[in-house]
Amino acid sequence: MPKDLVPEILVRATEALECEFDALPNYEPSRHSDLDSAAMEAILKETAHLLGNNYPYFHPLYAGQMLKPPHPLARAAYALAMTINPNNHARDGGRASSAMEIEAVAEIARMFGWNEFLGHLTSGGTMANLEALWVAGRINLGKRIIGSEQAHYTHSRISAVLKLEYAAVPADARGRMRLDALETELRKGDVGTVVVTLGTTAIGAVDPLPEILELRDRYKFRVHVDAAYGGYFKLIEGALDDPARCAYAAITQADSIVIDPHKHGLQPYGCGCVLFLDPGVGRFYKHDSPYTYFTSRDLHLGEISLECSRAGAAAVALWATQRLLPLKPGGEFASGLTAGRRAAVEFDRRLRADARFEALAAGTPELDIVVWKMRAASRSFDLEQSIFSASAKRNLHLALVQLPQFWFVHPGDQSANQSYATCLRSVLMKPEHETWLDRIWHELTAACAQVEKG
Ligand SMILES: *Cc1c(COP(=O)(O)O)cnc(C)c1O
Repeated sequence: MPKDLVPEILVRATEALECEFDALPNYEPSRHSDLDSAAMEAILKETAHLLGNNYPYFHPLYAGQMLKPPHPLARAAYALAMTINPNNHARDGGRASSAMEIEAVAEIARMFGWNEFLGHLTSGGTMANLEALWVAGRINLGKRIIGSEQAHYTHSRISAVLKLEYAAVPADARGRMRLDALETELRKGDVGTVVVTLGTTAIGAVDPLPEILELRDRYKFRVHVDAAYGGYFKLIEGALDDPARCAYAAITQADSIVIDPHKHGLQPYGCGCVLFLDPGVGRFYKHDSPYTYFTSRDLHLGEISLECSRAGAAAVALWATQRLLPLKPGGEFASGLTAGRRAAVEFDRRLRADARFEALAAGTPELDIVVWKMRAASRSFDLEQSIFSASAKRNLHLALVQLPQFWFVHPGDQSANQSYATCLRSVLMKPEHETWLDRIWHELTAACAQVEKG
């Protein structure tokens, strides 16, 4: 592993933080035996050993699931905030970190072209989507929610929790919501909200937002954009192919947006974000609680959030990261996204040029996720599983995903074959993936050769 910068900068910053509280009288922690540093260190070493039982998510040869290591500054800022352990429910529990959350969230909203909005961080994308659909359900009482088959699986579950009816419409051979299928549902007259996914979790497909917005003019419904994974690609929309570029350009017109800083935003887990275009939706959150006595007139984030306690440290880490890497098109953070996307496009090109593999029949990756199947004359039932395992033995970590068979065979014929196939999947979301692509390709083809030999 490369040298970890976090311990050194953290020691000095922790000293600086301690100075902030110099005026307090000294005190001794009441417990002594349980603060025995030798005992704590021994347990921490045991913990390190147990944590070794993980895939190496931080390494460029980990090219499987949607896992991107947090930035060292995010880890340091999070750990620094742990000295205080603020709670962003109220200014009382997290005065400084609430202010940082408000700033950090405003920067995310600006990235989407919103200056006036209501929004906050959440524990993750699921909670953020729950809030968005909860608000949608309060506005469009009793009306249905529609997503595509490729929308995140939690939307139907969230709708069930909220007692809102949910229906999934089919996706086309590129994994995008089918407009004809959507319109069939809209004609029934009872659709309150459409969940539009910009960057599906399985293959990074981008739903046709501009066309869905045209349908909104005609049928009147709320548009919720789930960009938990794909939201940051707004920064590099100019580098995307046409349909995706237009979808990102239109995101400003959504009614609500969800983005996960803990996916592409270099944050530790526990950091999602929900944004509403109309700040007036704050009225739905009104609550009267005898214990959350708000002691200042400033907005307390607990007044506009469904969750009560939330990690102030998550806001501190995000604020610090955005200070180092502002969310600017053409900036350093954006260029990391571009590198991953170039890696995905090149990986896909190599797969297409090689007779051993089958890529998506209808086109190249829209963002930075690549999926493929093995082409074999006499294929064993679980060939993809074998390649997955043989690659892992060579330290190349891929993922497996179930995708409709017709995506690989008959791009035009959407009803050809409704069965699903196990496919290989690689999320190339680390900037290092671009320079490691040759090595990734080498290990993959070597794994294939090994499996062929048996
Ligand atoms: C990951 C993801 C979610 C769920 O977010 P969590 O942070 O895992 O709760 C929702 N929607 C999409 C499109 C996602 O990729």
